[in-house]
Parts: sequence; structure tokens; C-alpha cells
Amino acid sequence: MDCLFCKIAAGEIPAKKLYEDDDAVAFADIHPQAPVHVLLIPRKHIASLAHLSAGDERLLGHLHAVAKKIAEEKGLTKGFRTVMNTGEEGGQTVDHMHLHLLGGRSMHWPPG
Ligand code: AMP
Ligand code: ZN
Repeated sequence: MDCLFCKIAAGEIPAKKLYEDDDAVAFADIHPQAPVHVLLIPRKHIASLAHLSAGDERLLGHLHAVAKKIAEEKGLTKGFRTVMNTGEEGGQTVDHMHLHLLGGRSMHWPPG
């Protein structure tokens, strides 16, 4: 499958990995929008949250649990933001579901 994030998960394209297990991989975003900007993906190719199948809900909890662990490791004691962009209007540019973990600066709301 010609998917950038599947290739990163498989180690076929280099990335700065912070965490990996049988179900998930976390790596540094190549264009960081905050001092800490990590992407968390399931190894399984799921195009977006809108393509989530019954039975894969646990992956969402797992990605968030890994985000919490990395936030702790990165010392984000004052807070952080987790975001999942979905589809064209959601601002998704890579069609492999991913959770952004952003931290190390104050975030704004509403997002653009
Ligand atoms: P989104 O716009 O929510 O789909 O997020 C896609 C993210 O992937 C963006 O923040 C990009 O900077 C990031 N990205 C694209 N290519 C790479 C890559 N090769 N390695 C790491 N991050 C990437
Ligand atoms: Zn993929």
C-alpha cells in the first residue's frame, strides 16, 4: 500500500520514533507546530477516524494512553493538546489516521 505513515511504521521511511509497540507508533512531526509535536498512529492502516471499523475503537484509547505517556516523558506538566484532523474540511493531509500531540507552548482556541 502506498501510504506514507504505513511506510514509517514499517521502517521503510525514516522518522524520529519516540515509541512503538505491536499496535502503535509515535514519531516526531517533520514540520513541528510546537516545541513538542508528535504524531501517534495505529500500525493498522485506517484512513481516518471516519473510516474506523467496529472493533478498532480500542486503538483510539491506546493512542491517547501513549500520548499521555509521552507528554509525561516530555515534561508537559502545564498541559498539552491532542488533535485528530479528519477529512478535507478537518484539515487532514495524510490519509492514515493520526493523533497529534502538541505541547510546550500555550495553545489557542478556537483553532483555525
Ligand atoms: P494532518 O494535516 O492532520 O493530516 O497531519 C499530517 C502531519 O504529518 C503534518 O503535521 C505533517 O507535518 C506531518 N508529516 C508529513 N510527512 C511527514 C513525515 N515524513 N514525517 C513526519 N511527519 C510528517
Ligand atoms: Zn497507512
